[in-house]
Amino acid sequence: MKILVLGSGLLGVTLAYELGRRGHDVTVLDRQPGSGMETSYANGGQLSYSHAEPWANPSVLPKLPKWILDPDAPLVFRPRLDWPMIKWGLAFLRNCTDSRARTNCETMLRLGLYSKKQMARIREETGIEFDYSGKGILHIFSTQKDFDHAKRQIEFQATLGCEEKLLSKQEALALEPALSHTPRAIVGGIHSFLDESGDALMFCNALAKVATEKHNVKFRYGVFINRLRAEGNEIKAVFTDQGEITADAYVMALGSYSPLYLKSLHIRLPIYPMKGYSITLEANEYCPRVSLTDGTYKVVYSRLGNRLRVAGTAEFAGYSQKINDHRIAPIVRAAKELFPKANWNDEIKNWACLRPSTPDGPPIMGATPYQNLFLNTGHGTLGWTQAAGSATVVSDLIERKSPGIPLAGLTMERYA
Ligand SMILES: Cc1cc2nc3c(=O)[nH]c(=O)nc-3n(C[C@H](O)[C@H](O)[C@H](O)COP(=O)(O)OP(=O)(O)OC[C@H]3O[C@@H](n4cnc5c(N)ncnc54)[C@H](O)[C@@H]3O)c2cc1C
Repeated sequence: MKILVLGSGLLGVTLAYELGRRGHDVTVLDRQPGSGMETSYANGGQLSYSHAEPWANPSVLPKLPKWILDPDAPLVFRPRLDWPMIKWGLAFLRNCTDSRARTNCETMLRLGLYSKKQMARIREETGIEFDYSGKGILHIFSTQKDFDHAKRQIEFQATLGCEEKLLSKQEALALEPALSHTPRAIVGGIHSFLDESGDALMFCNALAKVATEKHNVKFRYGVFINRLRAEGNEIKAVFTDQGEITADAYVMALGSYSPLYLKSLHIRLPIYPMKGYSITLEANEYCPRVSLTDGTYKVVYSRLGNRLRVAGTAEFAGYSQKINDHRIAPIVRAAKELFPKANWNDEIKNWACLRPSTPDGPPIMGATPYQNLFLNTGHGTLGWTQAAGSATVVSDLIERKSPGIPLAGLTMERYA
């Protein structure tokens, strides 16, 4: 089948690889000069399959008023007259009930654990290198309240087949000795030992190379998509700045920009750009080797070879990708406090980009009202984690096969 994948981020590249290895004639379009140049460029690096608690959950509600007023808050929600943002915000609030948070958690865990298996397969098939680490993710907590909340969450996740280990402060420090230099209080930890980490950009480039060389996938960079043309219930072509391109099937993987191109087809998806930030520095012996999540400050750390990546913040600022120094500052402060002896005097690379976020948490995959248009978008904070599983599921759906996991909560039907 001739398939056009729109977007060459993590979701587009992984899907293109999967479709290519199944023997399809695949072309990927992207406006950038290479793969992974937007949101998949310098993310937190965590393959956090076990991290399935959605942002929308009851514990967030009492924190919201403080976050709205606090410029250093991990979630910055500035109310303004932006109708898609207001609608997204109201849907987010509706998902902050206990029962919805549990359902959304189950959905994300189902996709996460499936992704772990598919990622292992892709690594074995391709042998690609991307500063992979299989040491798990260590979550640390500075307040008993945050720790107790996380303990309840792992008890719930254990009932869904996700095992994690509760650690005392001493055990957490033994797992990651670089934490022993911090003045910060650490009340305990959780080791999500199923989890992994790695460099998403290296993965995108290495996988695109294998897809091209082994499976004849064509990557067309520097192509700007203007719109999709439909007739009846079928997509007929994609209009780009380089002319019209046609295929038998089309997949929407334009990240945060997906809803803008679906609107003219009367498909309305509640995906809103949630801006995040990261810093990258050369690592020294005082930097962590295990990927970490600071559960109190909501900042993540990944050791990527000889670099340390630190990422965090969720800011609602429309489609601006501009780096706001005020938002980088709390990440640097939290990281300096946790690892005071890291290379803070050397160059630090700052980065910001837009997570394509749904208000409930899970991504949006699969069928649309158009028989040859499929979705692989809306992966929000977990697009690196869920890329391999999503690629397998969407490929199965394009081939009209039943996917390896139930689709409940993962398709656009849930918003009908
Ligand atoms: C600070 C930060 C930290 C994160 N940390 C993690 C983490 O630790 N673990 C994790 O699992 N996830 C993490 N994420 C989320 C993850 O990076 C995203 O979910 C993922 O990158 C989304 O991939 P995508 O392919 O959907 O979008 P993108 O990577 O943005 O790809 C979309 C592509 O579409 C192209 N495009 C858009 N419009 C057009 C057009 N008109 N014409 C042509 N091309 C177009 C863009 O150029 C882009 O390449 C993080 C995100 C951020 C911002």
